[in-house]
Amino acid sequence: MQRSTKIVATLGPACSEREVLRKMVLAGVNVVRMNFSHGTAEDHLARAELVREVAREAELTVGIMCDLQGPKIRVGKFAEGRITLATGDRFVLDATCTLGNQERVGLDYPDLPQDVRAGDILLLDDGRIKIAVERVIGTEIHTVVRDGGVLSNNKGINREGGGLTAPALTAKDMEDIRTAARMKADFLAVSFPKSGADMYMARELMRASGGRSLLIAKIERAEAIGALEGILDASDGIMVARGDLAVEVGDATVPALQKRMIRLAREKNKLTITATQMMESMIESPVPTRAEVSDVANAVLDGTDAVMLSAETAAGKYPVQTVEAMSRVCIEAEKSADLTLDREFLNRVFTRVDQSIAMGALFTTFHLKVKCIAALTQSGSTALWISRLNCGVPIYALTPEVGTRYRLSLFRDVYPLMIQYQGTDREALLLEAEDRLKSHGAVVDGDIIVLTYGEPIGKSGGTNTLKIVKVGESRV
Ligand code: PGA
Ligand code: MN
Repeated sequence: MQRSTKIVATLGPACSEREVLRKMVLAGVNVVRMNFSHGTAEDHLARAELVREVAREAELTVGIMCDLQGPKIRVGKFAEGRITLATGDRFVLDATCTLGNQERVGLDYPDLPQDVRAGDILLLDDGRIKIAVERVIGTEIHTVVRDGGVLSNNKGINREGGGLTAPALTAKDMEDIRTAARMKADFLAVSFPKSGADMYMARELMRASGGRSLLIAKIERAEAIGALEGILDASDGIMVARGDLAVEVGDATVPALQKRMIRLAREKNKLTITATQMMESMIESPVPTRAEVSDVANAVLDGTDAVMLSAETAAGKYPVQTVEAMSRVCIEAEKSADLTLDREFLNRVFTRVDQSIAMGALFTTFHLKVKCIAALTQSGSTALWISRLNCGVPIYALTPEVGTRYRLSLFRDVYPLMIQYQGTDREALLLEAEDRLKSHGAVVDGDIIVLTYGEPIGKSGGTNTLKIVKVGESRV
């Protein structure tokens, strides 16, 4: 059974062995995520090479996403590696402290004391520890612990309600953008953007380094919710980054935000990844909880392009089983996903010729008994537009461009296939497309397919033609 929703898996020590990675790819990983919060550029480049080798051997398309660390504000290190804070304890965040102890700890963002004031609530380690600011004295933030717990080296700090002003791209991010370009990453995820302007800046830096990645904005700050439209316009897609987002806006707000973000992204022809804690218990357990199964299924029903695994595959005990379980849950949920065409179709706004063909293909598919859509595409945009509404059949994107093939790995309902054809003969090209679909097992003689392509053949330009074909018929 083919799966429409894509799976993004974070790489880390749990899957650095070739054999584990191979099994994960065979189990259905579509995109791997390189987490630039950990490891060196050399580690990531070597991992990317290994992924490409494994995917080539398996004859599967696996995209590569580089995820920038961003300006995550963190506490420094402790002399003992960790401390335990009890509720009611006094604790100081001190920008000048180099090695922490039971009373105080350093900060990797020295301007934090200027950003907070008495009464603010700070959340440490993804909200596991809560401290209230009593007063700020120079470089020191004096706090009282509201909810205690174990605090170890380099844990993150968020403010309830958001509003910390660290700039979106750090010097490390800029360096990592160059590494991503060297790696020829298919996707670049930007952490903690506050506005569309942050995304424009990331795109400019990426272009200047020669990168061609699709740009994914991680929505994980309170401010990003207010700026969502502008961020979407400046990006190719968004990640519903529930880990940090829940800390800033409150966990109970996140489910409704997830639905709204996915809906808006699809309306604007953008991609979505739903991320964090999707299969969290599988870090330690070979089976997911009922709640996790529902969470993954609900993200599929919300219309997400991809669901993401973080520590489950990077540092968990069961990386392969997690991918298998996630895949199984997606496939089952997809069977009951709404066909959204009738309700949403008529309200779509578009003026471009190629976009009109994409909409025509959708409309035709929805009303004829069609086996699949085959979009002959250079850039992949026809496949993107067709995939923004669920018409219930697979979309094969036939492309001669290697980069396009890999970028399509994240698009829901879209399956990239390579074609070689170079000439100008329309019949020859369409026959190659048919043969490619047949050899892939997507169609058999007699199936009806909807084809989109650009004429004249061989002249690069936009899609302007829609053709309904009965497979095998043009050969007799
Ligand atoms: P992270 O981002 O895993 O890089 O923190 C995802 C999230 O915050 O949910
Ligand atoms: Mn995050």
